[in-house]
Amino acid sequence: MPRSPRISLAEVSRSSGGLLRRGDTAHDDPAHPPTLGDLTESLFFSPGDGRIWLQDQRMVLLHGAAFGHLRRELIDTLGADKARGLLTRAGYLSGTRDAQLVRGRWPDGDLLSVFLAGTRLHALEGVVKVTPLAVAFDKLRGTYEGEFRWDHSVEADEHLAAYGVGTECACWNQIGYAIGYVTTLFGQLVVFREVECRAAGAPACRVVGRHAAAWGDVREDLHHLHAQGFHSPAPRARAPAPHAASTQEGATAATQAPTGLVGASSAFHSACHQLARVARTQATVLFTGESGVGKEAFARQLHATGPRAQAPFVAVNCAAIPETLLESELFGVERGAFTGATRSRPGRFERADRGTLFLDEIATLSLTSQGKLLRALQEGEVERVGGTRTLRVDVRVVAATNVDLQQEVRAGRFREDLYYRLNVYPIHLPPLRDRRDDVPLLMDHFLQVESRRHARTPKGFSQRAMRAMMHYAFPGNIRELQNLIERGVISCDDGEAIDLPHMFRREQLPDDLLLSVGSDGNLQPESAPGRSLREAVADALEGGPGSLHRIEQRLLRETLQAHGGNVAAAARDLGLTRAQFAYRLRRGEQAPEPRRRGRKADAAS
Ligand SMILES: [Zn+2]
Repeated sequence: MPRSPRISLAEVSRSSGGLLRRGDTAHDDPAHPPTLGDLTESLFFSPGDGRIWLQDQRMVLLHGAAFGHLRRELIDTLGADKARGLLTRAGYLSGTRDAQLVRGRWPDGDLLSVFLAGTRLHALEGVVKVTPLAVAFDKLRGTYEGEFRWDHSVEADEHLAAYGVGTECACWNQIGYAIGYVTTLFGQLVVFREVECRAAGAPACRVVGRHAAAWGDVREDLHHLHAQGFHSPAPRARAPAPHAASTQEGATAATQAPTGLVGASSAFHSACHQLARVARTQATVLFTGESGVGKEAFARQLHATGPRAQAPFVAVNCAAIPETLLESELFGVERGAFTGATRSRPGRFERADRGTLFLDEIATLSLTSQGKLLRALQEGEVERVGGTRTLRVDVRVVAATNVDLQQEVRAGRFREDLYYRLNVYPIHLPPLRDRRDDVPLLMDHFLQVESRRHARTPKGFSQRAMRAMMHYAFPGNIRELQNLIERGVISCDDGEAIDLPHMFRREQLPDDLLLSVGSDGNLQPESAPGRSLREAVADALEGGPGSLHRIEQRLLRETLQAHGGNVAAAARDLGLTRAQFAYRLRRGEQAPEPRRRGRKADAAS
């Protein structure tokens, strides 16, 4: 182990387990795990019960010709653009799954080796033979550059068989895989492009990957990932304040923020597909799903892509308005109707005329309010409080709830007739934990949004932050993810990677997500599933006297390496002063002896 804070690249690249931050192919060692042999052992056939496994993922052995046929039918029925999007997203999903597999199975693997494991897996899966031409990355500076040669691409083969030599690159599914794999591991959006393709007459395919900011404009690439809402990153450029337009009256803070309609997972897609189908109509839509899944963002998208897009979108959070004011909020009030009503004003129904009225948390309405709402919906007219005129209103109603309305009806808390009025076209929005494949895309999206908003320039996410986010349960869903990233952007210094302590308060994370100790006494960012930090530490302690001392020393040194030898930054990371950190490190350089507990172990025990 190096004793001075100056650490050479070679030392970093091989000594620090999962904490490698920089690397290049000059340091690739095919014998370093996971090797092709290791990966091959992860693939096993279970013919007796009709399953093939790659570690814990079920796989399918598909005929190349069948893939080619499916691909051709997609292109012929949907057009090249849509087919390309479908194939890119399917590839992206495979890439994120393989990245999670490698990370879960080889948590100690250094970043270079786990990057290159993706090339080996892609070959193992029979898709393409990948030869890295040059890979260089620097986690701290947030740069990634990779160039690869692809031979025997199955997609190029099938494209050639169907269409002959053309002018366009055609390995769309494989590009999606590369983006999903590297982005998931790197913690920043890394976009791959095919620059030469056998389908366009080249002898082999050649692809280049770079972090999104280095490409400049990646809208076209993101279009195929269906990451709507993405903006091409423009560091330092301050976007206009994202205030809602005057016609968009937000009821919650979330409505003022750019939306998070970003994703490539099948769960997200299915919801988008339903949204696109119903948006064209005038039908009433009911969004269901947990708090924070983006119901209002979907409602706004529904409005923006529907026939009423030019008219107002008015949002009402039913839970945020006191019962006594609800009627005047919804239907308006005439001057003198009650004490304090000094002037007449229109209600939300009137303001949404010819547009869309979004009623959030509809289940919180009292039965009395439900009755008044139902009457307005049935008759298409409202009467201001204290008024005598009846006003005709033409609104499309979109409602949302995070509780089971049918259950509320059975319990007598929600009117059945209103339920049927609202539940014309229900769209269920999945919780974030059911669309984990979208987490890297959402992280990148909100990193751009929050960096612009706060005029900060963090460099992506640390590996352990990425790992934690991939495993975190997100009880508050997308809103919570956005909050975590906003906190990270604010807490992190410019040019640094956002790390766990920047985003999470300690009590939010299970202990074993912060640190864990292998049975060899080595610290690693994450324990094997099902083992708590306490159990892992107990195992390590059985290694004999002095093992806690070794744990502390390893923690100090790995943290130091992670910060490129910057003692002050490493100390801050561990909640120590610079002097405390240096003292502990110096003590470690003397003969190890059983010592009192270190800070992290204290906190965990
Ligand atoms: Zn190709």
